Amino acid sequence: MPTKEQDFGEWYNETVDKADLCDKRYPIKGMNVWTPYGWKIMSQIDSFLRREMEATEHDEVCFPLLIPESEFKKEKDHIKGFDEEVYWVTHAGLNPLDIRLVLRPTSETAMYPMFSLWVRSHQDLPLKTFQIVNTFRYETKQTRAFMRVREIHFFESHTCHVDQEDAEKQVAEDVEIVDAVCKELCLPYSLLIRTDWDKFPGAYYTVGIDTVMPNGRTLQIGSAHYYSTNFSKPYNITYETESGEHVYAHQTTLGMTERLLGAVIGVHADDTGLKLPPAIAPQQIVIIPIFKKDNADQVIGVCRDVAKQLKAAGIRVKVDERNDRPGSKFFDWEIKGVPLRFEIGGKDIENGVVTFARRDNGEKGTIGMDSLVEGSKMVLDMISKDMLEAAKAKQQGFVDDVPCMDAVDSIPEGRIVRLGWCGCPECGHKFEDKYDIKILGTPYKAENWVGKCSVCGKDGAKPAYAARTL
Ligand code: ZN
Repeated sequence: MPTKEQDFGEWYNETVDKADLCDKRYPIKGMNVWTPYGWKIMSQIDSFLRREMEATEHDEVCFPLLIPESEFKKEKDHIKGFDEEVYWVTHAGLNPLDIRLVLRPTSETAMYPMFSLWVRSHQDLPLKTFQIVNTFRYETKQTRAFMRVREIHFFESHTCHVDQEDAEKQVAEDVEIVDAVCKELCLPYSLLIRTDWDKFPGAYYTVGIDTVMPNGRTLQIGSAHYYSTNFSKPYNITYETESGEHVYAHQTTLGMTERLLGAVIGVHADDTGLKLPPAIAPQQIVIIPIFKKDNADQVIGVCRDVAKQLKAAGIRVKVDERNDRPGSKFFDWEIKGVPLRFEIGGKDIENGVVTFARRDNGEKGTIGMDSLVEGSKMVLDMISKDMLEAAKAKQQGFVDDVPCMDAVDSIPEGRIVRLGWCGCPECGHKFEDKYDIKILGTPYKAENWVGKCSVCGKDGAKPAYAARTL
């Protein structure tokens, strides 16, 4: 098996297989089976999304999978963007359908005909909904578990507002939601307003949420969009103002997928296996009894008691009582990425402690039996904090500045650059073409940076980031 350093792609595929996160043998390419372990992690991630949605007063809905062609084709840019990626249902039994049906690639065109019925007056706004469903896109590039698949585990929020100001407040709230979720996953990320030629089909603007893989390529893990009235016009989503006028609603969406899990693997796992952030680990602590023939019952009894105390305190814990050597158990749980391992043997019991080993950095220590719950929680918190900090430091190290394009011949593989950009498309395309790189966008939150356009030299340029994407 290649190391993470040698061949990221191969290493990633092997790591997913070894940890048994999904089964790729299903006979449709790019449609994988979620195994119990992978699904537990994904469900945990979904629970954070649901928690944030509830805290911000979004209501969960569940729309049909099929969309009639007539509705799907209403927004021109949107359909252009997805035309080559959609799956069609053309028959019902033996009969061809009068109106073909699309398997949703995303749900704008399913939801908005209904929104036009739901939204009547200004009192119906804001309308804030979300759903977690599967979507389908015919991916033509090489598929990769959780990162590029044809059946996607998809989170999408869709909102309607009275005006631009209220809609843009929603985008700002989306950014807070993303931050809360990424913290749980120990994932650093950046927020960049995509170029006009790279925004979501139909959006007024798109905020891309990117993280960096260890090979220096970026991975989009989500996106927030302001649609203005681009969809409410073709779908006729209007509301009556207090003065009786009929006005088009302003809309936003936020989307994230199972790529969040792919990103966690890519950013944190190592050549041994996964390293799961404690918040999403199906088992946060695994307890390995270390016993001899004469004290087996006592040691296993203490292990079970420790597990019971931790469980009562809300910690996800498992005692590995399999009839196997401790060393081989250690190895199995390292592959699975369990954040914290406890070893309990006769000596530990005598000393009133448990011995622990951290998966993230290999550090070892002990926790007193008399402060088991607090001690365990403290170490798990430290693991989260350290995983995020380590990933942040690594990602910041990928970025170089390009003050002037004439001074730089090429941008090496694995580097991300910050350039000055006047914002005009010609300069943007020129930069992308010369270096065979993609401009990811300009910072959503203003950066303290003043300079010239790296391409044309004009003053007053904004910073922009460019990278090669995974
Ligand atoms: Zn320029």
